[in-house]
Amino acid sequence: MKLYARIVLPFVVLMAFLAWAIGVSTRRVVHTVLRSNLENPARDKVASVSHSLRVGLLSGNDRVLRTYLQGCLTGFNALQAAALDRQGRIIAHTDQAMEGKSLRAPHVLASLSSGQASSLETTMDGRPVLELVIPVSPKTGGTEPAGALLLRFSLEKTVETERRIAARVSGSAALAGGACLVALLLLMRSVLAPIRELSLGVEKLGRGEYGTTVPVGAFDEVGDLAGSFNEMSRELAQTTVSKDHLRDILDAMADAVFVTDAQARIQTANPAALAMLGFNEDELAGKPASDLLGPSNDPRLAGKLERVKEGAAVGGSEIYLLDKRGREVPALMSAAPIRSRDDRIKGVVLAVKDIRWIKRNADALRHSEAKLRQSEKLSAVGQLAAGVAHEINNPLGTILGLAQTIARGAPSGAVAAPMKVIEEEALRCRTLVQSLLAFSRQDRPAMEEFDLNEAMEGALGMVEAQARVRGVALARDLGPAEKVWGDRTNIQQVVINLCSNAMDAMPDGGTLTVSTGRAVLNGQMVVNLAVQDTGVGIPEEIRSRVFEPFFTTKKVGAGTGLGLALVHEIVSNHQGSIDLTSEPGKGTVFTVSLPLYDPRAGET
Ligand code: ADP
Ligand code: MG
Repeated sequence: MKLYARIVLPFVVLMAFLAWAIGVSTRRVVHTVLRSNLENPARDKVASVSHSLRVGLLSGNDRVLRTYLQGCLTGFNALQAAALDRQGRIIAHTDQAMEGKSLRAPHVLASLSSGQASSLETTMDGRPVLELVIPVSPKTGGTEPAGALLLRFSLEKTVETERRIAARVSGSAALAGGACLVALLLLMRSVLAPIRELSLGVEKLGRGEYGTTVPVGAFDEVGDLAGSFNEMSRELAQTTVSKDHLRDILDAMADAVFVTDAQARIQTANPAALAMLGFNEDELAGKPASDLLGPSNDPRLAGKLERVKEGAAVGGSEIYLLDKRGREVPALMSAAPIRSRDDRIKGVVLAVKDIRWIKRNADALRHSEAKLRQSEKLSAVGQLAAGVAHEINNPLGTILGLAQTIARGAPSGAVAAPMKVIEEEALRCRTLVQSLLAFSRQDRPAMEEFDLNEAMEGALGMVEAQARVRGVALARDLGPAEKVWGDRTNIQQVVINLCSNAMDAMPDGGTLTVSTGRAVLNGQMVVNLAVQDTGVGIPEEIRSRVFEPFFTTKKVGAGTGLGLALVHEIVSNHQGSIDLTSEPGKGTVFTVSLPLYDPRAGET
């Protein structure tokens, strides 16, 4: 209940009670006064005439009595008057019909026996009356009264008068009470106004509006209170960060923040934390933080977190949190204890950085590093091979020339046969050297815009004859014409090398499928060139080595191990990429991806 009500309500009740009580007691006093005004003259009169009354009574002379009684009516303004004998019998009455009757009312009998006057308020025909019994004193020496005089007065006027007086007095009291109430309200207003200001100020402070001040009014206790309040509010503004402000900061943070209680149960998690793990706030509230730790965590992590609960801080630990679907999320975590004023540890704040993207990038980085290493290796070997090939080329020419001359000049088979062998082997060496030189050729390829499908047809024309001989079916699945920017002969070389390997992989025949078509690679539109066979496939363990120069699984003399190395080199020079999928026993697909020709860029 408001202070107003608490003071005003009892006051009003008290005032009403007082007005009522004053009314009642006034009425009682007035009643008593008016009643004695009626009674006393009658008593005095009766005492003064008691002798003649007594005579009248004793003689039973009702006529005399009646005259006397009539005098009483007018003299005392009574309603009725009667003379009673000692036994209470009515000897004379102003209403003659009543004469002869006996009055046995207790107060009448008591007065007759004791000689003391008595009175009783009663009603007559429903109207209030006062009945007065005045004993008539006995004759000298006697003890019992000679009789009594009974007078009845109307109390109507008395009641009316006392009601009026009481009403007026109560009214005045109520008026005075009302005036007091107004004065009280004014007083309270002046006292309560600063208190209300204070209470509004406290409310604002409660909402976190630190620095709120209230007007300091009079130099009284309330004024002192307002002054202290302002001081406290200013102090708070300087020393406290509001809860809302903290919440705003937590909400704005990109990193996840969890706050736990002393038992390491989660109390608060910011939106970044909820988004990272896919929970909503209610699902995390009260959950033990340890429930969020995934199985891949360092076993020492639990011990570290225990130490945080004892007051140590942990920074930058790699952890794995479990998201709602039970998947592990790699993250970096720092944890610090939250202390209460009395230096107890009341919780732990955990700042967690999601490092999924770093991990992903690291994987991609590792992959491209491996590719780079491969390219570096290829180019180192290429340079080496180029040097060796140059050195070998000249002596080889001499050996070949001399062998041919000797073979031609030699008369019979004794020398001619070995010379033929030397010539053949030297020719094979020259082929090898020439492919080495082709592989390591430093000059830039002759770039031009050409139609890929047309170039493919040219290359496949050369493959076709070979395929027929080897019992291999050649299938073409060429997409719409695509322009590429590159060295047509080099690209044809790529197709020929891939097809030649494919046919080698199908010694018992099979199907060689060559296809082209657009695709999207790493978000970029490319044109793919795929060579697929139904051959022996490439075992997993050598798949990473097939592009290495000189890597071959073919028997000596059958393979140089340079075909795929050359393919790789050419594709790289075209800013393209090559990929292979293979299933041992079922076949292999080599896919070359080349950038599409973009006329606006000239070269893509
Ligand atoms: P070479 O053909 O002279 O052996 P390559 O560089 O062309 O050298 O090929 C290297 C190795 O890759 C081959 O020896 C073979 O083991 C493997 N290879 C290449 N293409 C295929 C294919 N289509 N099917 C199976 N193995 C293949
Ligand atoms: Mg080959």
